[in-house]
Amino acid sequence: MSKVALITGASKGIGHSIALELAKSGISVAINYYSSDEKAKELLWQIRKINQYTNIYKADVSNEAEVSDMVHKIESDLGKINIAVNNAGISQIGLFTDMTSNERDRMIGVNLIGAMNVCKAVLPNMIHNKKGSIINISSMWGEVGASCEVVYSASKAGLIGFTKALAKEVGPSGIRVNCISPGVIDTDMNSELSEAEMNELINEIPLNRIGIPDDIAKAVKFIVSDNASYITGQILSVNGGIII
Ligand code: NAP
Repeated sequence: MSKVALITGASKGIGHSIALELAKSGISVAINYYSSDEKAKELLWQIRKINQYTNIYKADVSNEAEVSDMVHKIESDLGKINIAVNNAGISQIGLFTDMTSNERDRMIGVNLIGAMNVCKAVLPNMIHNKKGSIINISSMWGEVGASCEVVYSASKAGLIGFTKALAKEVGPSGIRVNCISPGVIDTDMNSELSEAEMNELINEIPLNRIGIPDDIAKAVKFIVSDNASYITGQILSVNGGIII
């Protein structure tokens, strides 16, 4: 039987590429999204040409009940989830002191609590089957902190701590938990950056280019594969060398 992967925030950007890459390797993919209905449907039809065992699931990852319902639905449609990629995320640029408490709570809710909600829902079956792989998508700003992205950085640093601790807790049950920490990747999340700001960033990147979603998808494909069966609790930075 083929593996089943849930990818959160897969309607566009990095999650979209991860879903395509895993589908190409024969994995059944559950495409989670929140607001981009049309984009999620386009991806569904694209993936169905490769692997018919796929579907889209609209849910807000920050809402525990919606995540629990989504996981039950996926398991009845596609089978037990063996792979969970916590990719859904939001960002906001601005001074910490200008951020409202609602904006702060929303960011922590989606970026950090969202991953916890998914893990809580998928772990019972993974533990029962003594097998599973969880990948949390953090950020280089979670490793080093970014001015004007303070709460975002905190949410992503939280994901790193969550990954390391959960890996220790569920390792004895045969479940691996890892984190991928992307650098600057060309997606809508960076659409607010001007060309000049982008060029400044490129000048700081030893590999002299910003990343593409496929760079992250290829790393996810490796981490969930049997080639990575002895890797857990790790933070894999995929950033062109900007932070070492
Ligand atoms: P993106 O293009 O803006 O895509 C974000 C995805 O998250 C969308 O599919 C969106 O779905 C989904 N999402 C947002 N809120 C959600 C919610 N409440 N519930 C479920 N899904 C939700 O961003 P991206 O660049 O691909 O980012 C993907 C991940 O990589 C994020 O965690 C981000 O922090 C991380 N990252 C990105 C970069 C970068 O430079 N791009 C760097 C480091 C880390 P809808 O559109 O359907 O709402």
